[in-house]
This record gives sequence, C-alpha cells and structure tokens, in this order.
Amino acid sequence: MTKGIKLASTVRCPECGFQSKEQMPTDFCLIRYECKLCGHIMIPTEGKCCIFCSFGDVPCPSVQKALSVDS
Ligand SMILES: [Zn+2]
Repeated sequence: MTKGIKLASTVRCPECGFQSKEQMPTDFCLIRYECKLCGHIMIPTEGKCCIFCSFGDVPCPSVQKALSVDS
C-alpha cells in the first residue's frame, strides 16, 4: 500500500541553502548526502532516521507509512 506516499523530497543544505529535489529510496534509509553545491556532507540530525527526515521537505517513505497507519 503506497497510496499517498511521496517518493521525492527537496533536500536543503544547512550550510549554503542550496535545494535539490531527490528521489527517495523505498528500501533503505539514506544517511549520508553530499550537497551538490558546496560539498557539505549531511548526516541525520538527532532523533531523525535519514537525511530526508532531517533536511527534506517530505519525510522518508517509511516514516510516511508509519504516519499513515497511525491508529
Ligand atoms: Zn551546501
């Protein structure tokens, strides 16, 4: 069931503010991402599972799934 699950997230670099729309993998969490502009290496912030949940405008698919089945 993937209805309503977004698979793209715009990642914003905390160093230079550069934004890049990225496809999110559904089978693993991306925990390392290099800014395409300044080369800053992003890693998940405390309490977040991946860089999309930390720096993206859309949380990762597994978190979206968890939210959608909240009961
Ligand atoms: Zn950057």
